[in-house]
Amino acid sequence: MIESKLRSLIRDVPDFPEPGVLFKDITPVLGDAQVLTEIIEAIADPYRDQGITKVAGIESRGFILATPVAMALGAGFVPLRKPGKLPYEVVREEYSLEYGADALEMHVDAVDPDDRVLLVDDVIATGGTAAAAAKLLHRPGADIAGMIVMVELAFLNGRAALNGLPLTALVTYGD
Ligand code: AMP
Repeated sequence: MIESKLRSLIRDVPDFPEPGVLFKDITPVLGDAQVLTEIIEAIADPYRDQGITKVAGIESRGFILATPVAMALGAGFVPLRKPGKLPYEVVREEYSLEYGADALEMHVDAVDPDDRVLLVDDVIATGGTAAAAAKLLHRPGADIAGMIVMVELAFLNGRAALNGLPLTALVTYGD
């Protein structure tokens, strides 16, 4: 089963990128050819008949998962990037982190009101990044079908930040 494979492959790295953070390292999952295929299918399968036109990935590990999921669904890929990375005109959402603030940007023409979007990232922690991503996609009027992450850190209650947006996690820690 995919969940137990993920639990055995995901590596805890203490104090990365700063003291006190237990980082969930997904690179052993990405490096396993069979599990990589299985997780892309597990993310795409519930959305196969949902009319998804775009899959949006959050920089940067979200890109790795969102692009093959977009291909599996016959949808386009939309990058949601850290400030200053996208070359064309952007919309921007600021959000607060545990310490300080950050922002995400999206090209103004990346989605439109006809789009039905699946949002994908590797990890949801406090949910601040995911909530900003959802706001960005809503601004041009896109419909968001749901969000899928590989890992949910449930003790940080990121799900509550999503205002009812359906969230699916392939593996959950701390619930
Ligand atoms: P948050 O906005 O707190 O939900 O943080 C989500 C973003 O930070 C995701 O894009 C994750 O890639 C990254 N992240 C946060 N906490 C962790 C963690 N413990 N392990 C790995 N990535 C994390």
